Formats: sequence, C-alpha cells, structure tokens
Amino acid sequence: MRQFAYRRAPDATTLVHVLAEDRQAEGPPTSADAQFIAGGTTILDLMKLDVMEPRVLIDINGVQGWDRVDDTPDGLRLGALARMADVARHPAVAGQYPVVAQSLELAASAQLRNMATLGGNVLQRTRCTYFRDISWGACNKRNPGSGCAAIGGFNRRHAVLGVSRSCIATYPGDFAQALVALDATVETWRSGERRMFPFAALHRLPGDRPDIETTLAPDELILAFHLPKADWTRRSRYLKIRDRESYEFALASAAVALDMDPGGPVRQARIALGGVATVPWRAHEAEALLQGQLLTPETAGRAAQAAFQGAEPQKDNAFKIALGRQTLTRALIETATMEI
Ligand code: FAD
Ligand code: SF4
Repeated sequence: MRQFAYRRAPDATTLVHVLAEDRQAEGPPTSADAQFIAGGTTILDLMKLDVMEPRVLIDINGVQGWDRVDDTPDGLRLGALARMADVARHPAVAGQYPVVAQSLELAASAQLRNMATLGGNVLQRTRCTYFRDISWGACNKRNPGSGCAAIGGFNRRHAVLGVSRSCIATYPGDFAQALVALDATVETWRSGERRMFPFAALHRLPGDRPDIETTLAPDELILAFHLPKADWTRRSRYLKIRDRESYEFALASAAVALDMDPGGPVRQARIALGGVATVPWRAHEAEALLQGQLLTPETAGRAAQAAFQGAEPQKDNAFKIALGRQTLTRALIETATMEI
C-alpha cells in the first residue's frame, strides 16, 4: 500500500486554504505530489498501476457551481466539473454545437460518461502501453531521460503527427478535438486568480520533455471552457473511427465545423484531428485549402492530403495516414451535406 492524503474542498475558499496549507507543509506542489480528483476515472487507474503516486489527492467535487452549463450572449460556458453525459445531452450543446455533443457521446462507456468530468477529460493521460505498465523502464513521459520503448517497439496505436525523438504517444481524448475546432477558450483558476487563454494552447507538443503535457501550473485548476457563438458551430460533426464500434479510443477522428450555405462555397472551415497526433491537432493547411472552394470529394480529398503532409509513421502505424485522410474526407462531406 502507498500512503496518500485525501482532502476534500467543499468550496473555493477552502480549496485556496487546502492548497496554501499543502504548499506551506511541503513546498510548492508539483504534479507528482498534488493531484486533483474529479470523476476519478483516470487518476485512480493510474494510481492503481503505480504510474502516478500523488502525495495528496484534493477532491474538488463539492465546489458549488463548477458543474454548470451557462448560455451567455457570447456563447456557452461549460463548467469543468460538468459530467460528460450531462453536457452531451444539454439542449444548447446538442442543438448549437453538435460536434461537442458527438465527441462526448462517442467516448468511453455510459457509466464512465456519468462520472467523468470535462476538466478531467481534457487532462487524461496517454494510453501508450509502455507508459501505463511500469515494468517497462524506458518511457520518457513517465521517467524523463529513460528513452522511449514505443519507438522501435509495438506502435500500432501511436501518433504520426506532432511526434518527437523522445515520444510518439497519441493524445487519447475526443472532446479536446471539438474544442480546438471551435476555437474554444479555457478559463483557469490558481490561488483565487483567474486567467483565460485559447484552448489550443493548453496541450504541449512532446519535444524533448514529453513529461510536461500542458501549460498549466501544478496547482492550477480548470474552471470552464467557453464555446464562442459563431457561424460555423451548428454545421459541425465529430467522426471517430476505432477498432470496435463502442467503448474504444480513436484510431483516427476528425472534428469539423463549416461556415457555408448548402451547396455553396466554404466561407470558413475548422478542422481538428484525433487518434493520430500527440496533441489535439488543428489542421490549418487543410482549412486554408478549403477556403472559398465548393466542398466536393476532390477538394475534401486534397484537404485531407494536406492535413497529413508532415506525417512521420513508425513501423506499425503507417496505416493511420490513409485512415486519417479517409476519416477527414468523409467528415468534411458529411458535415457539408448535414441538414440544419
Ligand atoms: P479524474 O480522473 O478525476 O482526473 C484526471 C486528471 O485531471 C487528474 O490528473 C486530475 O488531477 C486532473 N483534473 C481533473 N479535473 C481537473 C480540473 N478541473 N482542473 C485541473 N485538473 C483537473 N476518453 C475519451 O475521450 N474517449 C474515449 O473513448 C475514452 N474511453 C475510455 C475507456 C476507458 C475504459 C476508460 C477508463 C476511460 C476512457 N476515457 C475516454 C477517458 C475518460 O473519459 C477520462 O478518464 C475522464 O474523462 C477523466 O475525467 P475524470 O473527471 O474522471 O478525471
Ligand atoms: Fe513513453 Fe511516449 Fe515512448 Fe509511450 S511513446 S513509451 S509514453 S515516451
């Protein structure tokens, strides 16, 4: 058994005190020694596997109001403690931001979606087997400087975009792709101070420090996600391709949002890819190619080609380039022909 402390924060003031006390007793928190727990569906697994060994777990579930979905004049504000299932079936989300509802509905299982929160979802860790199984010594993400067992190992599910010589692990989630495609903003909270920044700036490319996955400070909380009101949110879709029809992570996925009239040229396209990259991946080149074009199988195929231009396959995952292109082509056509 490993000892760890469990602290519950029923409100924001207590949370500030818990964090301050912890800092006084142990010095500034690092991600290794203080972790928040929301739904627990990631953190408890990783603790049981001995991959994460926090000294203190701070339960944030009791903090009032952080699970709300608010319809504001500027768009939707999704509280970080809102459960995936509740957000997926919220009428404003399903009606105005279908890509968000679909990305949540197609994730995990019903039981998990009832427990898991939006904040925990975007911060879930990779499913790389070498990361999750501590009997493998070489994993730069878990044990910086130790090497990467996946490079040269079994890497069928690994990334082809955004990879580095230190890590090729795939970002596993679905919801983050919808946020990236919609140009969402994230609101965070640290010692009572709030800050807002583009969601696309939350996840870091692995580079030579794959253990540092986000731009958050260790004691910084995600409070909410802001979805802007825009002309491309209603014509949006999430397509997820996986080894089996449900309860499985993506091999390739595409979040697409289009501003266009039916049959007319694309005024703006927003595209993010999942299952193929180390971070939620915005496909800027593909978006630029579609601007002002009629969306046909040919233009969609050219955009998909551009999205994977810089792909770097390993020995087992080259199939993801063709699969990713087909997934994006299909998602673009299906989004363009959606009835709204
Ligand atoms: P927790 O486990 O409570 O926390 C996760 C991490 O986030 C912890 O490090 C915690 O400290 C931190 N954290 C939590 N909330 C905050 C916050 N507000 N601010 C700062 N830090 C915070 N996901 C998909 O997207 N698609 C899938 O297909 C999918 N399939 C799955 C299948 C299985 C079998 C399992 C077990 C999980 C699957 N998941 C999938 C992942 C699941 O969606 C995540 O585990 C879940 O969303 C995490 O949310 P949570 O609230 O349980 O997070
Ligand atoms: Fe670790 Fe990343 Fe290599 Fe997987 S791909 S073994 S997470 S360094």
